Amino acid sequence: MSQRWVWLRRSLILRLVGISLLLLLIVQAAGFAVVRASIDRNARAQIERALDLDERVWRRLLDQNAERLRQGSALLAADYGFRSAVNSGDEETIQSVLENHGSRIGAAVTALLDTGFALRSVSMADGMQALPAALSEVMQPLAADPSASKIAVIGGVAYQFVMVPLRAPVVVGWVLMGFPINQMLADEMRQLMSVHVVLRVGSEAYGVRLPVSTLPEPTLALLREQGVVGGALATPEGILLAREVRMPSVGMGADVRTLLLRSVDEVVAPYQQLQVLLAIITAAGVALFAVGTGLVAQRMTTPLRSLLTATQRLSRGEYDVPLAHTARTDEIGNLARSFDHMRVAIGAQQSEILRLAYWDRLTDLPNRERFREAVVQAIAARGAAVQPLAVLTLDLDRFKHVNDVLGYAYGDLLLQAVAARLRQQLPPGDDMVARLGGNEFAVLLHAADAAAAHEMARRIIRSFEEPLALEDQLVDLSAGIGFACWPGDAADADALLSRSEIAMYAAKRKLSGALQYDASFDLASTETLSLLSELRRAVEQDELRLYLQPKVSLQGTRTLGAEALVRWQHPQRGLVPPMQFIPFAEQTGFVRQLTLWIFEAVARLLAQPRAQGLGLKVSVNLSTRDLLDPELSNRLGAILARHGVAASAFCLEITESAIMDDPQRAEAMLNRLSEQGFKLSIDDFGTGYSSLAYLKRLPVDELKIDKSFVMGMTTAEDDAMIVRSTIDLAHNLGLTVVAEGVETADILALLRTLGCDEAQGYHIARPLPVDDFMAWHAGQKA
Ligand code: C2E
Ligand code: CA
Ligand code: CA
Repeated sequence: MSQRWVWLRRSLILRLVGISLLLLLIVQAAGFAVVRASIDRNARAQIERALDLDERVWRRLLDQNAERLRQGSALLAADYGFRSAVNSGDEETIQSVLENHGSRIGAAVTALLDTGFALRSVSMADGMQALPAALSEVMQPLAADPSASKIAVIGGVAYQFVMVPLRAPVVVGWVLMGFPINQMLADEMRQLMSVHVVLRVGSEAYGVRLPVSTLPEPTLALLREQGVVGGALATPEGILLAREVRMPSVGMGADVRTLLLRSVDEVVAPYQQLQVLLAIITAAGVALFAVGTGLVAQRMTTPLRSLLTATQRLSRGEYDVPLAHTARTDEIGNLARSFDHMRVAIGAQQSEILRLAYWDRLTDLPNRERFREAVVQAIAARGAAVQPLAVLTLDLDRFKHVNDVLGYAYGDLLLQAVAARLRQQLPPGDDMVARLGGNEFAVLLHAADAAAAHEMARRIIRSFEEPLALEDQLVDLSAGIGFACWPGDAADADALLSRSEIAMYAAKRKLSGALQYDASFDLASTETLSLLSELRRAVEQDELRLYLQPKVSLQGTRTLGAEALVRWQHPQRGLVPPMQFIPFAEQTGFVRQLTLWIFEAVARLLAQPRAQGLGLKVSVNLSTRDLLDPELSNRLGAILARHGVAASAFCLEITESAIMDDPQRAEAMLNRLSEQGFKLSIDDFGTGYSSLAYLKRLPVDELKIDKSFVMGMTTAEDDAMIVRSTIDLAHNLGLTVVAEGVETADILALLRTLGCDEAQGYHIARPLPVDDFMAWHAGQKA
């Protein structure tokens, strides 16, 4: 797996999980904050309400306290003994009653005032002796409204004072009692309302003090230090919301307030548990979510990874491994399936392309490309171990004419049959038959030297001896076969192939069965090429020579015939035979000038007086190119007119194949030539596929049986048969028969008995220069 993919996969999962978690956390945090804020707000409102109540209760508590004091004072004022003591002015009794009564009900100050509110007698609890002056400060406001209780600060301590009249029955004085606002009251309040109570007492002499408090000492110290800020006191244990209750008070610079404090945390505590629970749920949710999205991402990325490796396999050209995850029903499954379809389709296309590139559709044989590769591989596999191998190429003869006469479909059948025959000749193994193109085949022979290759070539030729029976037609097979061996004839595959082909063309030229490559073939072909380039010059420089080969009558008539054959008197190469330049002249079309040259040479000869007396009839060869030239008839006519010679002195030889290259145009031209007065002859008869029935339609006068049959007449029985039946058939159709290639007296005699009309061959005379021909003729007469 590539690094990039690891990164991609990781990042994909990370991104998926990360983004999901982030969103989840944001939502949770927002919810948390909202809940927290509203809990806080609710808590504060709740506390404010509680503090409202606390304040009312506290004031009520102080009122109750005052009422209790007033009742205690009233009790004292109603005391008979006390009243009579006041009346009698028994100061000692007054003092002791005040002390007893005061201490009994817990008053800090008990005093008797006269009707003018002046202090008559006072009893004070411990620690208060030094303060009678302060009392007068309290007395003035109390005197103004005796029914109310008053809070006063004396010696830095807050006291609650009440005053009750002393009647006997008229008011004879006032009883004044004061009680400290103390810890007990605060504790009672705390017990009652669970609120913290702190008394803040300010006075000129003592400053601000906090004498009473239900707070624990550290919190109290904190309060002392920083006071209440913004209605709250922040302590390490949490926030306390405070309510300050001002208490109207008298005394020098007196300022008494009660602080009621309630803890926010206490209210929030039950909700906090809820919040903790919420946090736990959130955390569990986040964890679950992380795992879940991780799994989902894994489920997504695992198939993606396998798809990636699959594409890598495809790019390497491996099409046979099916994709995973195709059974899934989700999008990934769809993707995998369409990927798999693509794989199969590409694989099929690939193999089809390979097939098209390397196989011949018609014969199902490897093609030239494939064959070449096989040769390259075979040579590479040999390496240093020199074990020979051979390449054999063969080219079917006259195949083009099969196509022309019997149709392309038939030609295809023929090629298939040939392919089958070739395959049969190979022993099973890794030897290979291929179709190089057209009618050319090749065989690769592993482990074959020249002798083995030659043997294989002979075997193929033998297998071709039996004619092919296709669709009720019998077709003779023949082929030129060439071969070349590695490493003797060529060093590499391409040279081996091309030299095998050169040998094949040489075999076809020489009409010999099979040939091994020879360096002289190459030389020959280069020679022909340069000869070709010199041909034009040859015509201009008058290097061509007219040769005549006699055609004699076998049936007693005294007509003298001859075939005009061209020769090239090359300044350096000497006399060049026509087979070395005619085929190439035909390829280039130059043969038309050549034909006109020889035709003109013959016409010139026939116009000479020495020829006129002989009644000479000369055959001139026409090629395909001539026949397809629409101007041929006109050109020949012009030459005849120029020399004043009759067309009837000429016979025009045309091969079957020349007609079959374009039968319609050929037929039209033959008709014109025949009308012009030319005699027409079918040359090389028997080598093509045209039937006599077809030839009958043409304006033909003569058949020339091919020399390959004639030369074998006396040795091969079937050759004699072919010659015999050809003569009979031709005669039935009203045609004259000429046999060429008469090399022996036996053949000549046999032809005479078979009723052949004319003969031509080395036995009678070789092609001769015009003067020699004349001399030969003169010798004949003698
Ligand atoms: P072709 O028309 O079949 O000519 C007959 C060939 O057979 C001549 O070869 C001749 O020398 C040869 N021949 C004659 N008697 C015998 C014999 O007893 N035994 C053997 N083995 N051969 C014999 P040549 O002159 O080499 O011509 C070869 C071919 O070249 C001719 O075959 C013809 O197709 C072509 N050719 C020659 N001259 C001309 C020409 O002027 N115009 C055209 N278009 N083609 C020509
Ligand atoms: Ca001829
Ligand atoms: Ca011939």
